[in-house]
Amino acid sequence: MIAICGCGDLGIEYFKKNCNGMEVAFLDHNSASIKSDILAGVPVYTFLQFKEIYSADWNIIIASSDWYDIYCTCVLMGFPVEGIYSGDDILSFEEMCEKKRTYFQNKNHIIYEHQLEQRINSSCDKFLKADKSLIGSLNRVSLMISNICNYAPIHKQCPASCEKSKEVLEMIYIESVITDLAKINFKGTLAFHIYNEPLIDPRLFYIIDYAHKKIPHMDILVYSNGFYFNKTIVDELVSLGVTVIKTTGYSIEEYRRMIKIDVPVAYSVLPGHLDSRMNLYDDLTPDSEKVNSKCRSFLSELCIYSNGDVGLCCLDYQHNHNLGNVKEKSLSRILSDELLIDLTEKLIKGKRTHGICRRCGWCR
Ligand code: SF4
Ligand code: SF4
Repeated sequence: MIAICGCGDLGIEYFKKNCNGMEVAFLDHNSASIKSDILAGVPVYTFLQFKEIYSADWNIIIASSDWYDIYCTCVLMGFPVEGIYSGDDILSFEEMCEKKRTYFQNKNHIIYEHQLEQRINSSCDKFLKADKSLIGSLNRVSLMISNICNYAPIHKQCPASCEKSKEVLEMIYIESVITDLAKINFKGTLAFHIYNEPLIDPRLFYIIDYAHKKIPHMDILVYSNGFYFNKTIVDELVSLGVTVIKTTGYSIEEYRRMIKIDVPVAYSVLPGHLDSRMNLYDDLTPDSEKVNSKCRSFLSELCIYSNGDVGLCCLDYQHNHNLGNVKEKSLSRILSDELLIDLTEKLIKGKRTHGICRRCGWCR
């Protein structure tokens, strides 16, 4: 029994070439997308309908240009995918990502990102409708534990390339942030990067161990540029309590090497790409198309820079808006500041007040 995801040209081609005499069903979000009479009499299900009749006898093949999204849907619905028809061959998701050189993520990561997205949305609802508690609505805290990155000299489009001196966020403040998160029984994700390579910091394993012991149920994320990254490092990170690992492959060789590493927790590899964020502060004229877009800002990710400053987000590499500094005030005091709460509400409602927000095309 074969279930073909996609009723378009690729799905029909796969059906004609490979399904003679077999029991076949099509899966598509929209049965109106069937274009060929050849499919007359072949059942077409939506994913939800298919869930009702699914059994392990079905072999699921994706045959669609939307293969990436369909694969993620299958993972989230618990359907094991046999392979992805590329027009020439049947490939695994990993092989297809490699062929297209696109964002790779394993099943755990697809589920992690989906659940995180749901949590951020429900935090926004709760924040607006109920308590306006910022500290109680956090989903991810990114602590930039230093401003040091080994790729800074060659990545001229990254703010790390402009750093004049090394800056390290002292342990006392890192521990203080973690202690504040422990007090609220933080259930989100703690990360250790913004514009730095966390694996370059000799304290990282200690920090992870400390954080995991203080808040065992939270997710701990390590985002690496990949330079120091291999299977041994993965296993040691996971043994300390890391639950999410993200990397970037800045060359095709690095990307290929990293998507092949067997990672037992949520894992993604982004093909290297440096954007134009360095120019963000150059012209702060509001962009009329972007200025009213909603941004979930601090509820999506709270960014604490290596000098202790809270920034608007990871784009805010100058972070000079006086939103608070963890060297001067505890995280809980910073997050109970009325101005910050008001700013959060405005951003969620699409009222952008700060210069870079009025230029930025992001809706976090
Ligand atoms: S883009 Fe990432 S890897 Fe490159 S210098 Fe910046 S922080 Fe380092
Ligand atoms: S609007 Fe843009 S710059 Fe402002 S917080 Fe959101 S993502 Fe950051």
